[in-house]
Amino acid sequence: MQTYPVAYIDITALKHNLNKVKAFAPDSKVMSVIKANAYGHGDIRVAIALEESDAFAVARLSEGIHLRQAGIKKNIVLLEGVHDIEQLQLAAENGLSPVFHNQVQIDLLSDAELIRPLQFCWLMIETGMHRLGISTDSLPAAITTLRNSHKINGEIGVMTHFANADKPNDCRNKSQMDNLLESKEAKNVTTAMANSAAIISLPGSHQQWIRPGVMLYGSSPFPDKTADGLGLKPVMKLAAQIIAIEQLQAGEQVGYGGDWQAQKEMKVGTVNIGYGDGYSRQLSNKGKVWVHNQLVDVLGRVSMDMICIDLSSTNNVKIGDEVILWGIEELQIDSIATYANSISYELLCQVNNRVVRQYDG
Ligand SMILES: *Cc1c(COP(=O)(O)O)cnc(C)c1O
Repeated sequence: MQTYPVAYIDITALKHNLNKVKAFAPDSKVMSVIKANAYGHGDIRVAIALEESDAFAVARLSEGIHLRQAGIKKNIVLLEGVHDIEQLQLAAENGLSPVFHNQVQIDLLSDAELIRPLQFCWLMIETGMHRLGISTDSLPAAITTLRNSHKINGEIGVMTHFANADKPNDCRNKSQMDNLLESKEAKNVTTAMANSAAIISLPGSHQQWIRPGVMLYGSSPFPDKTADGLGLKPVMKLAAQIIAIEQLQAGEQVGYGGDWQAQKEMKVGTVNIGYGDGYSRQLSNKGKVWVHNQLVDVLGRVSMDMICIDLSSTNNVKIGDEVILWGIEELQIDSIATYANSISYELLCQVNNRVVRQYDG
């Protein structure tokens, strides 16, 4: 029995993409970013598949605990760090590695009693994105505080994050790199800054550690380059099935609001996926799906559990037939993201737990 909707997850493609990451940055260690349920792919299965990573990163404490409870042993960095003493204690208990990105987080260290010291900790510095990070001016003191704290074992790394790495020629990238490197020279620390876009197009940013996310999942971080052209393989293929077929007369309308109207007699199919599964409502009247080896249009508004599609150019299509929403060469997630006026990151993360993940490879 095959249940739909389903996200087929190609573990071989995932491993291929990790090898691509390593080919782009052969001298760096890899901190694979598996936040947000591994960009919708399933954090535990992805962590197991990416065992050739040197460490993992997630955003939140709860994500790290989830991985630990599943028996994942590698270092796990919490990119947003912890926000109170109990969270710091939980991080220590679970052997998780917080990032410290503000003074409040650094101060928690002196107030907390920890069951065991933290290890593999990072300071986040602000170099131009103005989202998270302590100023470069306050870095020397922060490094000293962390190095002197008996609640931390081992070396402290310093990281920062690019705001514009998807535009490789943007001069703001160089400025962010210069800011990090100055800090690095001052304090002789391990550094990390490159996300997927920088791994591919800013070799000067590679440093000791890199933090690939979206490229692991086979999507391009650039608006003007395809995943295929970068040698990446899509990991998620999202599919649903036709659950109804109707013959429409000219003038009849489809879906909520009657937003789409047949111009002629035609065949319309109803497919069992909707925004309640994470298929974006922005794809109303804009999306395309793959059925019987053809690209066809989404008709009318995306409903919570269903979409309607144009079957007028298909032959022999029947109830039960599979429909692909993205993840094949003819229908890449990056094109769907463009139709949705969004990015692949968002579409992938939105696929929720109503969609079965089926692992292969
Ligand atoms: C999400 C995230 C990444 C991964 O970014 P991609 O563009 O998906 O490669 C890297 N670093 C930090 C700090 C992040 O939050």
